[in-house]
Amino acid sequence: MAEHLKQQMVAWRRHLHANPELATFEVSTSDFVAARLSELGIPFQRNVGGHGIVASLTRAGSSRSIGLRADMDALPIQEQTGLEHASVIDGVMHACGHDGHTASLLGAASLLAGDTDWSGTVRLIFQPAEERGIGAKAMIEEGFFENFPVDMLFAYHNWPGLPAGKIAAVAGPVMAAGARIAIRITGKAAHAAMPHQSRDALAAAGYLLTTLQSIAGRAVDPLQAAVVSITTLETGAVLNQVPEAVKLGGLMRTLNVATRDRVEAEIERICNGIAMAMGVTIDLTIQRTVLPTVNAPYAAEIAARAAEAIGAPVTKELEPSLASEDFSYFLSRKPGALVWIGNGEDLAGRELHSPGYDFNDEILPVAASWLAEVAKQALRANPDLS
Ligand SMILES: [Zn+2]
Ligand SMILES: [Zn+2]
Repeated sequence: MAEHLKQQMVAWRRHLHANPELATFEVSTSDFVAARLSELGIPFQRNVGGHGIVASLTRAGSSRSIGLRADMDALPIQEQTGLEHASVIDGVMHACGHDGHTASLLGAASLLAGDTDWSGTVRLIFQPAEERGIGAKAMIEEGFFENFPVDMLFAYHNWPGLPAGKIAAVAGPVMAAGARIAIRITGKAAHAAMPHQSRDALAAAGYLLTTLQSIAGRAVDPLQAAVVSITTLETGAVLNQVPEAVKLGGLMRTLNVATRDRVEAEIERICNGIAMAMGVTIDLTIQRTVLPTVNAPYAAEIAARAAEAIGAPVTKELEPSLASEDFSYFLSRKPGALVWIGNGEDLAGRELHSPGYDFNDEILPVAASWLAEVAKQALRANPDLS
């Protein structure tokens, strides 16, 4: 890769890092991406699902089409890195490395634009609002697959804890399905000294909280991952009254849809059972946020081959993460893979989503080269396998 492009990507990345924007507000970020695409002479469409941009590069000779996706949004975190390129926006920070994803996809655009050794269409997808899990969905609802057909899709996430520049291309589930849980228990208030006149919502909450813990241990196959975490509890503030109502909140995570459905059904069953046992009413809302991210095995294989082709160290084995990723919505419609590219050591205080986080500029060339190469390899792949 030309030294000039490496330096350009670092400058792009640092500009984006210094000027982060929250999910659904990626105005200047998408302006920046549009300006770079115009310089490269690559046609694009703006405002796809909010501030999303889809650019299309076509070379005659093949009707196949591959999507490469980068997310553009930042997080509501006050940066504490003290770096020269630290965020200039109060309370907003690129703490998940989406600045690096965007810069390296622009780098891949530059590589592909200057490379005649491929044919077909590559769609460069600059996605908004990943951190709220709504950007991919919005792009799809606004007709992404109808207006920009693709046969396969690829993306990466930078991954602290994996050596810098090492690529993990894993088949099957790699990131979790998520849902928010909201529970309202309504009983009957009474004087705390006359509890027989109450229907104790707080006692019901206690039984509910402990019984929900049994789901992961007793209702789910021990070889399947499941998390049910109740994290908030709101109730009365009066010492001498049995409270009328309790609100509980939390989240769940699973690595596949079957386990998700099982966990949801168990939560509902336990709520109904406790309600009956304790004579209270329990209203349960489970709001699904993100689907599980599942890599098609042959797509993971193409992703690994592309990593080998660019000379990057590669592994096909890495434990899935129970974090979630809305690239899953793209993968629920078309096959593809999300790989992890090592960001280097996972230092305390500099984890993803922490105020000390910074994307490692040294991995930009690997990331851009892998994105360009995986598109070329996937365009060449036997369509009968997909
Ligand atoms: Zn994130
Ligand atoms: Zn992220």
